[in-house]
Amino acid sequence: MTHNIPQTMGQQHGRRSWAEPWKIKMVEPLNVISREERERALAEAGFNTFLLHSDDVYIDLLTDSGTSAMSDRQWAGMMLGDEAYAGSRNFYHLEEAVQSVYGYRYLIPTHQGRGAEHLISRAVIKPGQYVPGNMYFTTTRLHQELAGGIFIDVIIDEAHDPASLHPFKGNIDLDKLQAVVDAHGADGVAYVSLAGTVNMAGGQPVSMANARELRAFCDRHGLKLYLDATRMVENSFFIQEREEGYADKPIAAILKEFCDLTDGAWMSGKKDHLVNIGGWLAINDEELFEELRNWVVVFEGLHTYGGLAGRDLEAMAIGIREAVQDEHIRSRVGQVRYLGELLTEWNVPIVQPVGGHAIFLNARAFYPQLPQIEFPAQTLAAELYLDSGIRSMERGIASAGRDAKTGDHYYPKLELTRLTIPRRVYTQAHMDVVAESVKAVYDARETTRGLKMVYEPKYLRFFQARFERL
Ligand SMILES: *Cc1c(COP(=O)(O)O)cnc(C)c1O
Repeated sequence: MTHNIPQTMGQQHGRRSWAEPWKIKMVEPLNVISREERERALAEAGFNTFLLHSDDVYIDLLTDSGTSAMSDRQWAGMMLGDEAYAGSRNFYHLEEAVQSVYGYRYLIPTHQGRGAEHLISRAVIKPGQYVPGNMYFTTTRLHQELAGGIFIDVIIDEAHDPASLHPFKGNIDLDKLQAVVDAHGADGVAYVSLAGTVNMAGGQPVSMANARELRAFCDRHGLKLYLDATRMVENSFFIQEREEGYADKPIAAILKEFCDLTDGAWMSGKKDHLVNIGGWLAINDEELFEELRNWVVVFEGLHTYGGLAGRDLEAMAIGIREAVQDEHIRSRVGQVRYLGELLTEWNVPIVQPVGGHAIFLNARAFYPQLPQIEFPAQTLAAELYLDSGIRSMERGIASAGRDAKTGDHYYPKLELTRLTIPRRVYTQAHMDVVAESVKAVYDARETTRGLKMVYEPKYLRFFQARFERL
C-alpha cells in the first residue's frame, strides 16, 4: 500500500519519498528505561500518564501543547525580546501578525489559551445562559461553567461515531442549534462556541460551508459566533483538501476567510503557533475589547504582555507566520496521517478519518471486556507505556469528569487514547516505533485488566487522578 501522504512529489514513476520540510540543527537525546523501571514508574504515577516524570518517557505523545520545536528564526526572535513592562515592541509584532493572518481588529495576549477562555467567558456569559458548541473541550467548558454558563453539545451525530467517514465531523448541527434557541430564546444563549478541529472528536474539522451557515444563523438571531482558533490552521488544511473550491487556495487565505465569519477568537499558541507558551484573545467589537482589556490586567498582566515575556510574544509572532505556510502544515498533518495509515493497515481500531494532530485509538474496541467504569482508555495508555515507554493520554470517562448537578460521571460515547504528535519534533522513524508498539499492545488485548480510580480531584480530574489495577 502506498501511504497517502498529502505531499505532491510525483509518485507516478518509481519511488519518491516524502520528507519533513526542515533539517535538524540541534538534538535532544532520548532516554529509554527498562521494563521493570517502567513498571515502577507507572505504579508511582498512579497509572496516570500525566503523573509520570518525563525523564522516564521515551517518545512523548502526551500532548502537542507547548511541545513544538521552535525554528532557528523563532529562537533568534527570543533574543530580541523587549522586556519593558508596558508597550513592548514584541507586543506590536504579535498584534500585527494576528491582525494580518487572522483578521481580527483587537488583540489581548494571555499566558495561554485558558487565560483567554477565562476572560471571554467572564465577560460575555450571564449566569444561567446556554453556550452551545461543537463538542466540549475540557478547559473551555469549565470556564464557561465557572462563569455560570450551561454548555450544550450541538455537534453533528457523526462526531460521536468513531467509524463514520464524514469529512467534516466537527460541524455543528443547525437543527440542534435551532432547538436550543427555540427552547431558551436568543437571550438565553450567551454565544455560539465554535472550535476549529474538534480535539475530543478526534481532531475533526469544521467546513467553511458550516461556518457560513452558522454566521447566517447567528445574524438571524442576533447571536455572536466566537471561535476557538487553537487548531484553525489544521482545520484550514482539511478545507483545502476536502471542500470544493478550496484546493487551489493557500492555507493563509482559507484561515482568513473562516475567521472573517466569526466575531472573535481565543487561541492557545501552544498548538498551531509552534511556541512553548502563549495565547491570545482577539475580538472585533470595540466595547467588548475595552472590557476585556480591563480584565486582563486583573488576571494575566498588563494588556501589552498578558502574562508572557516579551521574548515569548516575539516567538509567537514569528510562529504565526510559519504555521500558515502550506508546506509546514502539509508535513504536520502528513506525519499524523502516516502513523494512522500504518495502524489502519494493521487493523488496529482508530478514529477515522485521521485528524490533524493525533491518532485516537478506540479503546472500547481494544477492550470490549472492560466496562467504561474500568477506564478502558486509561488502561490502554498504561499498557502502551509499559510496552515501550511511549506516553499517550486518556480521552474518555476520566477526562469527561462529572455532572456538576447530579454528581454522576459523564459517560462519553467515545473512549479514546490519544497519541498526540508534537510539531517538528519526531521523525518518521519514531512513528514506525510507535505503530509497532501499539500493534503489540493490541495483540495482547484479550488478557488486559482494567483500572479503578482511587483518588479523584474536583476539577479537570484527569490531570491528577490516581488509579490501581483491578
Ligand atoms: C489546548 C487547548 C485549549 C486550552 O489552551 P491552553 O493553552 O492549554 O490553556 C483550548 N482549546 C483547545 C481546542 C485546545 O486544544
